[in-house]
Parts: sequence; C-alpha cells; structure tokens
Amino acid sequence: MYGHRVLVTGGAGFIGSHLCERLLAQGCEVLCVDNFYTGAREHIAHLIGDPRFELLRHDVTFPLYVEVDAIYNLACPASPVHYQFDPVQTTKTSVHGAINMLGLAKRLKVKILQASTSEVYGDPKVHPQQEDYWGHVNPIGPRSCYDEGKRCAETLFMDYHRQHKLPIKIARIFNTYGPRMHPADGRVVSNFIVQALKGEPITIFGDGQQTRAFCFVEDTVDALLRLMASSPDFTGPVNVGNPQELSMLDIAQLVLDLTGSRSKLEFRPLPADDPCRRRPDISLAQRMLQWEPKVELRDGLLRTIAYFEELLKAPAAKCG
Ligand code: NAD
Ligand code: UDP
Ligand code: UDP
Repeated sequence: MYGHRVLVTGGAGFIGSHLCERLLAQGCEVLCVDNFYTGAREHIAHLIGDPRFELLRHDVTFPLYVEVDAIYNLACPASPVHYQFDPVQTTKTSVHGAINMLGLAKRLKVKILQASTSEVYGDPKVHPQQEDYWGHVNPIGPRSCYDEGKRCAETLFMDYHRQHKLPIKIARIFNTYGPRMHPADGRVVSNFIVQALKGEPITIFGDGQQTRAFCFVEDTVDALLRLMASSPDFTGPVNVGNPQELSMLDIAQLVLDLTGSRSKLEFRPLPADDPCRRRPDISLAQRMLQWEPKVELRDGLLRTIAYFEELLKAPAAKCG
C-alpha cells in the first residue's frame, strides 16, 4: 500500500509505540529508532520477538543511514516538563532531527511524515484553529524550544518538498491521551489520573478555565496512517485532534467521577505562556482523510485509568 519497511523515529514513545503496533498489524516491517530520552523499552518489549520488528538505539540529531520505504518522524519529547528539561536538545531534536530524516528520505526518495503539533498555533487568537492560521507564538519563552523547533521543522518539510520534490506529510497533532502516557511527565490527563488513583490533590494550574481538546491515541494513530496513505498531492499540514473542548476543571471532575476518587482540588500558579484555549477545526482531515475521532472521552479515559491502575500496582512503578 505505502511501502513495506517503515521507519518510526520516537517509536518507543507514547504515540510511536502504538503506531509501531498498528504498522505491524497491517503487515509492515518496522524499524523503530529511539534514544530512550522519554520513551521506554517496556512500551515495545512485547514487539521485540516479532521478526518484522527491529529496534535501533539512535539519536536523530546524528545522521542515520538505513534503507526503508517510508518514514514517520515522531522523535521529540512532547510534554512541557520533558521538553523544557533540556531545551537546547529539544530544538536540536526538532531541527537537526528533521534535517537528517529529510536527508534520508531524499536519498531514498520515500515519503516522510512529520509529527507536528497544535503548539505551532501558540496561544491562539483564532478559535477554533484552522490550518491556515499562522499562530501566536512567543519566540523567546520557556515553551519556544518546542513550538519554534516544530515550526522550523514544518518549514524544512515544506522546503524539501518545494526544492527537492520530496513527498511529505505534516500532521498537526493536538493533545493526545491514552495508555503508555508517561506517569511523571506532567501532562494534565496523566497527572490527574495518577493523583486521583493515589488519593493525592488534583493540581489545577491557574483557575482551571483554560481549555484543551483531547484525542484518544488510537484515533490519533489512525489519522497518521490515513495521512501517510493519502493522495500524493496532499501534504497537509492537517489538524489531528478531537474537537470536543473541555476546561481543566471539567476534566478534573470527569477523572474524579470515573475513578471514584475523593481527592481534593489544589490550585497552583499557571505556567508562563500556557495557552488559554485550544480546539482543532478538523474539517480538512474529515474531507481529505475521511477521518474523525471515534473514541468517546469517557471510554478513552476509562482505558487510560485501567492502564495507570496496573502501572501503579507494579513494584517498579515509575511514578516516584
Ligand atoms: P514521547 O515523549 O512519549 O515520545 C517521543 C519519543 O521520541 C520518545 O520515545 C523519545 O525517547 C524519543 N526521542 C526524543 N528525542 C529523540 C532523539 N533526539 N532521537 C531519537 N529519539 C528521540 O511523546 P509522544 O507524546 O509520543 O509524542 C510523539 C510525537 O508526537 C512528538 O514528536 C510530539 O511532538 C508529537 N505530538 C504529541 C502530542 C501529544 O499530545 N502526545 C501532541 C502534539 C504532537
Ligand atoms: N542524511 C542522513 N541519512 C541519509 C542521507 C542524509 O542522515 O541517508 C543526513 C545528512 O547527514 C545531511 C542531512 O541528512 O546532513 C541532510 O541531507 P541533504 O542531502 O538534504 O543535505 P546535504 O547532505 O547536501 O547537506
Ligand atoms: N495542567 C493542570 N494541572 C496539571 C498539569 C497541567 O492544570 O497537573 C494544565 C496546563 O497548565 C495546561 C493544560 O493543563 O493548561 C494542559 O497541559 P498539558 O501539559 O497536558 O498540555 P499542553 O499545555 O502542552 O497542551
């Protein structure tokens, strides 16, 4: 359909590991490249016995010479806590990583998909966000290493496409949640669930009125597969997300209801440059990919809660 041997950078991460599974299920061979910066061996341990699965420990900021038929470029820390831990490395991963993977794709003449982000819209002044909105991004703030790194990566993808006729695809992924989120990466869904399960206070940043739209990981992966298989003329960028918008107070209440937890809410200062509102307009994905999210928020949260319940029972739980 679209190449047999597929490279997934960041394949040991949250979204990447689900993507590897789905590609194997479709009959592809998968080369997973990851430096385990935020990913985990456990995410892909069950795939290692599969003869069609190969794992390579490698940092995409260095050149990579392999032979593949298609590339999904997901390597990049994604949560604010992780990407701000070593911001220079974050920018290097986005920019040098994109250059290397584009160079690889150019040499092999294969399709390459970039996992971009809704963060390219920054703290948006247009709502909901459509792909033709250029965004409202602080170039010098604590989130800039991620936002501007991803914006520069999009520029590189478009320029390799225009200059070298490289077939590219850009997905602007909005907040995604589900099993294999990192329990300590500070993202809101994982934080609230772990806090609720442990009976600890639910930490609301700011007044909790800020909004996000949460897409279950299965739906996100489905969109990435459809985008890779889409018409050669279609490069994107295309929004991939769930348009159901919720405030952080709404999501806290839902997590409390679904876990039956008696945790109390605790209000903390809002981090710098935290976007106030975010919701994707997904009409382009509906039209071009015949895609829209299918998993209801309650169902997705219940599956994520079940995952964290198991994780917290494990003796070596990484929830410290
Ligand atoms: P993640 O942190 O779980 O996965 C990223 C993976 O990339 C990890 O396995 C990590 O070890 C690896 N990695 C990081 N730097 C690397 C490097 N220099 N070389 C090789 N591997 C490296 O994050 P995720 O949530 O799975 O995100 C995957 C991609 O999707 C990222 O590019 C992210 O920016 C994008 N995205 C995610 C979301 C979301 O809500 N999860 C939203 C928008 C965009
Ligand atoms: N590259 C790579 N694997 C390849 C081909 C290229 O990692 O199979 C890297 C290479 O290190 C280079 C980058 O991709 O720095 C960009 O390649 P491109 O051919 O676009 O640029 P050039 O090599 O001409 O600078
Ligand atoms: N947030 C919160 N409590 C937490 C973690 C996050 O209220 O324990 C808020 C955060 O300030 C932001 C929203 O939840 O407004 C989403 O944060 P996340 O880091 O998950 O994603 P991003 O900000 O990158 O969209």
